[in-house]
Amino acid sequence: MKKLSVWILALALLVFAGGDALAIQYVTIGTGGVTGVYYPTGGAISKLINKKRKEYNLRMTVESTGGSVFNVNALMNGDIEMGVVQSDLQWQAYNGKGEWEGKPQEKLRAMFAIHPEAVTILAADDKNIRSVADLKGKIVNIGAPGTGQRVNAMDFFQAAGIDVDKDLKAEGIKPSEAASMLQDGRIDAFFYTVGHPNGSIKEAVAGARKVNFVPVDEALVAKLTADQPYYAPAMIPVAPYPGVVNKEDVPTFGVKATICTSADVPADIIYTITKEVFENIDELRDLHPALSVLTRENMLQGLSAPLHPGAEKYFKEVGLVK
Ligand code: GLU
Repeated sequence: MKKLSVWILALALLVFAGGDALAIQYVTIGTGGVTGVYYPTGGAISKLINKKRKEYNLRMTVESTGGSVFNVNALMNGDIEMGVVQSDLQWQAYNGKGEWEGKPQEKLRAMFAIHPEAVTILAADDKNIRSVADLKGKIVNIGAPGTGQRVNAMDFFQAAGIDVDKDLKAEGIKPSEAASMLQDGRIDAFFYTVGHPNGSIKEAVAGARKVNFVPVDEALVAKLTADQPYYAPAMIPVAPYPGVVNKEDVPTFGVKATICTSADVPADIIYTITKEVFENIDELRDLHPALSVLTRENMLQGLSAPLHPGAEKYFKEVGLVK
């Protein structure tokens, strides 16, 4: 009798809550500007998950955000459950450096890495910015607060011995607006730490004003990678950008994009998402050209915060982690 009444109660609750809506869990992934790679990547991952939303009772939504720094803070506030974060900023946040000086973000957790990102400096050809030193005296968008490029641009100018406050006019424009501002003549150059190809650079090269990538010379790349071990040499491909002035791929430095979460997000959710992504890497590679380089192995590189237990469980199951 007691058993029966428990069942009736459970059934009534289920009906009351509207059937399967009872168990649906919502996951929001914070990305970046709509013309970057984070946003379409978030879309690609959501697409994989939402195809099976009935099976998993999971519903994933993508949010365009300010970028890496914003995403770390939103994860730590519980505003989002997943976020795309540059590998350098994952390290700084977890270890309490840079933007988080003295305030380690102890609940930050790594899931997996995605594509490489190059610190990209795009300039108006008519401004004759052919090297780092030519940026002096120019109007340069170093990136809005909350973006990863703003942090990288500051590191870059410091390593180059250029004073951001005195030697140039620094702007803090959102990445989705930088290309049109460059075309309109309101800025001379902009920084974007981003995978290639991406919509922002495509938009900028398609305009009437000719543009060129500014190479970062070998000595400066060496200095940056020696001082900050999370930086690595990188190349910007010119092939996807017909119309750009450069004829050859452009040297610079870079990082990796990673997917992070919080220790507060349940392990079953993170396990499901990690598994779904790793079992469908082929599909993910096809969903965006910047993701075409992904492999199971390189998706475990560049992680410095502890792995989330849900991700770790999957990696152990398939032998990617011991
Ligand atoms: N790396 C940039 C950032 O952290 C975002 C790049 C993108 O949206 O693809 O702000």
